Amino acid sequence: MFVFDPKIAALPIVGREDLFPVRRVYCVGRNYVAHIREMKEGDERDPPFFFQKPADAIVTNAADVPYPPQTEDFQYEAELVVAIGSEAANISVERALEIVFGYAVGVDLTRRDRQRESFKAGLPWEVGKAFDHSAPCGAIHMVADVGHRLKGAISLSLNGVERQRGDLEQMIWNTPEIVSNLSRSYRLKPGDLIMTGTPAGVGAIVPGDRLLVSIEGLAPLQFSIAEREI
Ligand code: MN
Repeated sequence: MFVFDPKIAALPIVGREDLFPVRRVYCVGRNYVAHIREMKEGDERDPPFFFQKPADAIVTNAADVPYPPQTEDFQYEAELVVAIGSEAANISVERALEIVFGYAVGVDLTRRDRQRESFKAGLPWEVGKAFDHSAPCGAIHMVADVGHRLKGAISLSLNGVERQRGDLEQMIWNTPEIVSNLSRSYRLKPGDLIMTGTPAGVGAIVPGDRLLVSIEGLAPLQFSIAEREI
């Protein structure tokens, strides 16, 4: 057997006792025009590009997120999370939604100073994006219950003040296009999550801050920023 307990990251499923085991966390970069403009990076017509966070970076609803090491500019990005429920490679846009298990509210936490350095130096985004506790994610709603979330308000409040507001239909690449495109590079499997990009209004957070992220029709995600643990 195993020489130590292999902990599996998992998310609750609304209305079910069973958990959704997280295999991989894919993220889409730059998927809302207004966010690309505020970042002053990239082109609005670029094809989607992807990066990953480790599965054990998942933080479940209401858990604290420690302020990460190696940054002085820790930022939030509110995102729709797509949960994959079956295996597929090279799936067409027309059929892509068939493999979606459900949807959740998530945040792509970012060490913005490290990400900007990497971008300028042409280096991988790893240090800016794929760190411990960098992927808070709410409970998954099954498609059978809520349908496909192709439009609807997405917003983030920091200490009770709204900082991000957009609509899922403002995505440059929508969920079927993202799933189809990603499946050309990776065989998607049950347990994969895809964070689909953030609208404008990203900003810095510090210990003590309280975040509330909402997407129309889904359970909100909330968490607080705790002191640095390293
Ligand atoms: Mn993001």
